[in-house]
Amino acid sequence: TFRALRIDKGDGGQTVSTVDFDEADLMDGDVVVRVSHSTVNYKDGLAITGKSPVVRRFPMIPGIDFAGTVISSTSSEFAAGDGVILNGWGVGETHLGGYAEIARVPAGWLVPLPANMTPAEAMAIGTAGYTAMLCVMALERHGVTPERGPVLVTGASGGVGSVAVALLAKLGFDVVASTGRPEEAEYLKGLGASSIISRDELATPGKPLQKERFAGVVDSVGSVPLANAIAQTISGGAVAACGLAAGMDLPTSVAPFILRGVSLLGINSVTVPKPIRIEAWSRLARDLDRDKLKALTETIGFDDIVPTAKAILEGKVRGRVVVEI
Ligand code: NAP
Repeated sequence: TFRALRIDKGDGGQTVSTVDFDEADLMDGDVVVRVSHSTVNYKDGLAITGKSPVVRRFPMIPGIDFAGTVISSTSSEFAAGDGVILNGWGVGETHLGGYAEIARVPAGWLVPLPANMTPAEAMAIGTAGYTAMLCVMALERHGVTPERGPVLVTGASGGVGSVAVALLAKLGFDVVASTGRPEEAEYLKGLGASSIISRDELATPGKPLQKERFAGVVDSVGSVPLANAIAQTISGGAVAACGLAAGMDLPTSVAPFILRGVSLLGINSVTVPKPIRIEAWSRLARDLDRDKLKALTETIGFDDIVPTAKAILEGKVRGRVVVEI
């Protein structure tokens, strides 16, 4: 047996407990991994609190991502001793996940750990940081360059936001960070933001076309702030939308799309094909300053997972959290 966090569902709702889990009860997969690190993302918060029905199978081991070392493999893609990363594919939602000492998954879901990256660094990046990279790659594909103008990052003190700020600054962008935590201004400047705006500036419903300010946007909050960000995007600019921390709705009109040619780029990190995953992880290995990654990361132990999962939904977690399994 091995130690795992387990969510069960009964008549009284869901319960979360630390258990001894039997390896025989793991789900199908051709690779067995000794998990050394995991992390706490917003979606893990939703799973552990049950606030949103992201868990689709019970019992579930939550944890939507992990890094570790292959123990055994029947796939030719991986061998014992290989460093691997897993993020997405419904792990921690429909497939037993990362808050456990051992995981068994299909080889197709695993990405090799980049040569110059430790498992702890991979989980400091985690699904949130990987999603920030996908957002940046989407803006790049759309032709957003530093010369075209500043880029806005919403939810900037959060996980996706912090990594996006650090990445964009390293790539030479003028980064405007929007946050509801003015006390984090110095932190965000340290990551490379050139200016900070208050979350309130984007919080009031506004016109669908406003003064053009941003060549690109990385948005992790959705709802009214996203609508205002779209309204402030320059002609031909693009907005990468990946999150819903402020809400699922999007109160805008087609005006920015048909009158300014603004593009809304949807980002779903869960089912991205493997070649793009490998590209994103190698870009992260290259384009994310390790000192900045350290500055945005906090490390916790297994027993801190549940309280941290609650805190992240309250917007109280800064940057990224690594869990030492
Ligand atoms: P996080 O660390 O909690 O970051 C979210 C940030 O949003 C908070 O730190 C806060 O930043 C801001 N925020 C919170 N509540 C808000 C509100 N009511 N109004 C406006 N801003 C608010 O979470 P995360 O792990 O980075 O994830 C961010 C979002 O991206 C989540 O919605 C998550 O589900 C989504 N996500 C999606 C994908 C995908 O594949 N599409 C992948 C990863 C994450 P400030 O305090 O700085 O304002």
